Amino acid sequence: MSRQLFVTTALPYANGKFHIGHIMEYIQADIWVRFQRMQGNQVNFVGADDAHGAPIMIAAEKAGVTPQQFVANIAAGRKEYLDGFQISFDNWSSTDSPENHELARQIYRDLKANDLIDVKTIEQFFDPEKNMFLPDRYIKGTCPKCGTQDQYGDNCENCGAVYAPTDLIKPYSALSGATPVLKSSEHFFFKLSDQRCVDFLQSWTQDGKLQPEVANKVKEWFSVRTNPDGSKSEGLGDWDISRDAPYFGIEIPDAPGKYFYVWLDAPVGYLASLKNLLEKRGENFEAYMAQDGLEQHHFIGKDIVTFHTLFWPAMLKFSGRKTPDKIHVHGFLTVNNGEKMSKSRGTGLDPLKYLSLGMNPEWLRYYLAAKLNAKNEDIDFNADDFMLRVNSDLVGKFVNIASRAAKFLPDGKLVASGEASGTKSADLLRLVADHFDQREYAKAMREVMTFADNVNSLFDAAAPWKLVKEGHVELAAEKSSEAIQRFRVMAACLKPVMPGVATAIEQFLQCDALNFTNAAIPLTVGHQVGVYQHLMQRVTPEQLDALFEAPAASEPEKLTPGGEALAPLISIDDFAKIDLRIAKIVNCEAVEGSVKLLRLTLDVGEGQTRNVFSGIASAYKPEDLIGKHTVMVANLAPRKMKFGISEGMVLAASHSDEKLQPGIYVLEPLPGAIPGMRVK
Ligand SMILES: [Zn+2]
Repeated sequence: MSRQLFVTTALPYANGKFHIGHIMEYIQADIWVRFQRMQGNQVNFVGADDAHGAPIMIAAEKAGVTPQQFVANIAAGRKEYLDGFQISFDNWSSTDSPENHELARQIYRDLKANDLIDVKTIEQFFDPEKNMFLPDRYIKGTCPKCGTQDQYGDNCENCGAVYAPTDLIKPYSALSGATPVLKSSEHFFFKLSDQRCVDFLQSWTQDGKLQPEVANKVKEWFSVRTNPDGSKSEGLGDWDISRDAPYFGIEIPDAPGKYFYVWLDAPVGYLASLKNLLEKRGENFEAYMAQDGLEQHHFIGKDIVTFHTLFWPAMLKFSGRKTPDKIHVHGFLTVNNGEKMSKSRGTGLDPLKYLSLGMNPEWLRYYLAAKLNAKNEDIDFNADDFMLRVNSDLVGKFVNIASRAAKFLPDGKLVASGEASGTKSADLLRLVADHFDQREYAKAMREVMTFADNVNSLFDAAAPWKLVKEGHVELAAEKSSEAIQRFRVMAACLKPVMPGVATAIEQFLQCDALNFTNAAIPLTVGHQVGVYQHLMQRVTPEQLDALFEAPAASEPEKLTPGGEALAPLISIDDFAKIDLRIAKIVNCEAVEGSVKLLRLTLDVGEGQTRNVFSGIASAYKPEDLIGKHTVMVANLAPRKMKFGISEGMVLAASHSDEKLQPGIYVLEPLPGAIPGMRVK
């Protein structure tokens, strides 16, 4: 009977590109999914961008775009990575989708109807300039324990102390620099401390859905205990699920100005992406979820265990929905024993650079498979180890078998061989399939490589090239056929990891699409094999050097023809602060005692004129300018100069080095503009 599997990876936060840690998780899940599909199981494998929350709202504002546009720009870049590393998602959606808005609101309503939503008034830091409540990460100040400046509102990077933002000495808003004020606000809470939730979670987290080491860790969160610093932890606390406007998220039903905290609607995105997929196919989401035996699997990193083992199952359970069957937690990926891959330190192995260097994505898939197991353990990408494994395992041991054996087949046809019974091959397939199902990929890869060693030594011992010289052409063909049959078995075993190479092998062998069942049946005697073509290149040290080459310390500045490098990016809001107006030059005169300045009298449509000094005397005679229109900065603070007060600034173009390229050009609007019009 085929299994029905609903599989997800964690939803990446849509404020940046994928880093190698994301790719590792996707490869881990994709190998499992491809294996299950080979077993004839029905899989829906979905992902989505996690689109909401304050960091995205703030990043979008900085970039001068709407949060929706910001997220769409990030989402547009996803395909290149997913296709590049052969990640076979059935769907990619966003938590800002209509499906997710609807599902998140419905789950909330169901929890509320179940009396699991509470409203409490809490005090929080508020930025009086930005007019918003500040997330912990946007409050900085001096650490109350060690006195280090510029620390975040939740913990100190210097001494590691954990504290509340209100504990900070001299707190300030990282957004505006303003001193935050305490302000109270009503927040919505999911009552996780409710006995029903506690009872459910205590059982749900300890009955085999989690890896043993994860289950043990989670157990601690239920007990009242004393922390190393003397403070008390109180078991499960209620979860604050609301944020005040302005917030990019899903508005809470019947609570204007209140939004779901991003972590409430993020996991709902799993269901929303699935719903989106099923509806595209004309299938019914509710019916799919209600199937007996449907298995729900989440692949996640160890940093988000709390959300997936407490909040998420409880949200589902008490809104009357199906709960997950397995949470597969993996560790972090380090590169060359370096720092953990995180958004802030995302240097190291750049996935797109890897692809752009022409490096085979299946090398990386194999290398990660050879390191991954079912435990929540960190793994390291080591460049030398990577080259060794790919070149010696994949090329030296595996691919070589086919290239060496194919040439001894008479007319490319298989002859009767010792592989006819194939018990060792059948054993390998069973063992490897079991390892894949248990996510013990490293064990699976080891089995395949041990098998390859064996095939190679049998082939070397038989030495078909010698047999041919000695006239034993038939025996050489027999030994080679045996090797080819076993090569096909190995190809089936590696197919979830290296789908591209497996397809090339199926073409070379002219056999059906391989799976763990048909690979146990040897190809028939007389089966015609195609012409061997090289299946895989070796990794070169040059490629690895290029991959880890540090980017140039600083790019040479790009000079424009104006002689000046472009200024750093500003947001549309930054630009909007500058009030540019059309001004009519009603009078203009030379300034006595100054060779540079002209005194302009400007009409900006205010009913009175302004006095502005401008350093354009070298370029214009006063009478040339009178009566003309120009553009001025109308909200520049008045400036006291030697010759009087200047109440604004006239816009003019010039080269940065006037000696190199003299000339000043006052801006003039096209005909029709009248004084006072804003320039935007
Ligand atoms: Zn500190």
